[in-house]
Amino acid sequence: MREEAASIARATRRLLERERALTGGELVAAGIATATRKGLKLPELPAIAVGTVAAPASAPSVPAALSAPGQAASAAPAMPAFAPAPPAAAAAPPAPAAPRRPIASLSKTPAKPPAILPEVILPAFTEPVNASAFDGNRDAIHVAALPVLEQVASEANACTKCELCKTRTKAVPGIGSARSGIVFVGEAPGADEDLRGEPFVGRAGELLTSMIAAMHTKNLIPGVPLDRENVYIVNVLKCRPPENRNPLPHEIQQCSPYLIRQLEALQPRVICCLGKFAAELLLDPKANGLTKTTTLASMRGKTYRWRGAKLIVTYHPAYCLRSPSAKRPVWEDLQRLAQEYLDV
Ligand code: SF4
Repeated sequence: MREEAASIARATRRLLERERALTGGELVAAGIATATRKGLKLPELPAIAVGTVAAPASAPSVPAALSAPGQAASAAPAMPAFAPAPPAAAAAPPAPAAPRRPIASLSKTPAKPPAILPEVILPAFTEPVNASAFDGNRDAIHVAALPVLEQVASEANACTKCELCKTRTKAVPGIGSARSGIVFVGEAPGADEDLRGEPFVGRAGELLTSMIAAMHTKNLIPGVPLDRENVYIVNVLKCRPPENRNPLPHEIQQCSPYLIRQLEALQPRVICCLGKFAAELLLDPKANGLTKTTTLASMRGKTYRWRGAKLIVTYHPAYCLRSPSAKRPVWEDLQRLAQEYLDV
């Protein structure tokens, strides 16, 4: 008798423990199963309660009467047998997709860089090339440039912004005009230029003058007279460095605004840099892939841009005097200059 009572107590405890272990959904499902087995009628449950119930896989399926309204499996009317199945397009249209927000605004962690870096694309030239002598606008540019060039010359002659003012005889602002739209930019005045106040008048200057004359004789730009009066010749520095040494960075920094103002007034169609100092000043190193080790030889043979002007690089005439074999590549560069001038 005592053993029977203990057995009943153990069975009751197991039952209570099993029921305690069931989730809410399992309890409901178990209750439904029990009621179904016993043929009892269940009261309707609120839809929200049914919708939150997750019956276990082993539990019997929920009767249609307990399905939430709108649940297709039990609430939709049965399809007539004769009716053809509706085409897929006739189905309820999908809900419009919510507008996408940038991932960055949704994520608190910074976006990772792409595994493969995009190809570097240099910015396109947006400025049109300045007018040529054929466009009919060069005369107006020439007239408008004159007062600016005179003003720059006046300021350079009186300039004391760097130490070179103490050793110069005359400042050398520049010579020529904006008529053709071609500007040659050298490095700095030499001894002859310092005495006369005019750029490229020594031996190197004579070579440059003869090269410009050859461009005219060879008719590289038909219809455009090429000589010292119709092109503009200028240097990066307006005063001679002692012993013809190289310009120093702070001297270039102090003096270059004069050159920039001159170029802005001249609106050249083509700039020809004579030597590395002019090229390094006027070319953006980053945009043009230039480094400190870039040689002038590797800068040649390409056409760059400086604002509305095309820009080419060639050897300084003084270098041609020291290395006569450089005259041929310089002539090739001058032919390139003419070609770029003629191209739209
Ligand atoms: S080199 Fe240029 S900055 Fe220096 S004194 Fe001459 S004009 Fe002025």
